Amino acid sequence: MKKILNIFANTVVAGISERLEGDMRIAKGADLELTQTNRKRFFEKSELLGFETAAALLEHGEKALFVHNPGIYEADGLVTDNPKLLLTVTVADCMPIFLLDSRQSVIALAHAGRLGLQKGIIQETLRLMFSRSGSRPENIICYFGPFICESHHPTNLKEEATKQLQSQGVASEQIFDANLCTYELPEDFFSYRRDRPKVPEAQVAFMGLLQ
Ligand SMILES: [Zn+2]
Repeated sequence: MKKILNIFANTVVAGISERLEGDMRIAKGADLELTQTNRKRFFEKSELLGFETAAALLEHGEKALFVHNPGIYEADGLVTDNPKLLLTVTVADCMPIFLLDSRQSVIALAHAGRLGLQKGIIQETLRLMFSRSGSRPENIICYFGPFICESHHPTNLKEEATKQLQSQGVASEQIFDANLCTYELPEDFFSYRRDRPKVPEAQVAFMGLLQ
């Protein structure tokens, strides 16, 4: 699935796991032993072992953190300028939003569902890029990974996210979309709305700076 992020070319490594790689969800009450095993196998296969991982423990909120070290962070958005650190968030219908400012060598990865968008996860993530790294909105490239489309969800996540990015100064020409709906691709992705599982399962989106 790395192909979805060709837009970032040689600046970052980024992508998302597929369903066959197994559940990657890190959450309170999740089977962490299983997901850590799945993650390790997937990252090995994807040749990402040179990275240490900063994983978001999702809260469906607006909290974003600037991180330098590996670990599990209670937040929905992670920002870093550390090229040894792989940012990860898990998704199963919500949007994984990849952000890059190649001039300041800073990246961010956010988990954005209906609630997070309402609360301001995009603004908070961008605010950190602006304030901590001196990013300017016109230098940011944004990419939406696979999420549930408006035909299969009452909220048009893409429209809402795009509107919010634009209100922060990120122009539509800087915003790209994988155009992949998790609901429509049962062989490729978990979809919470489609599968209605007792225990949620999720793919992992990842992003790391290349030196
Ligand atoms: Zn759809």
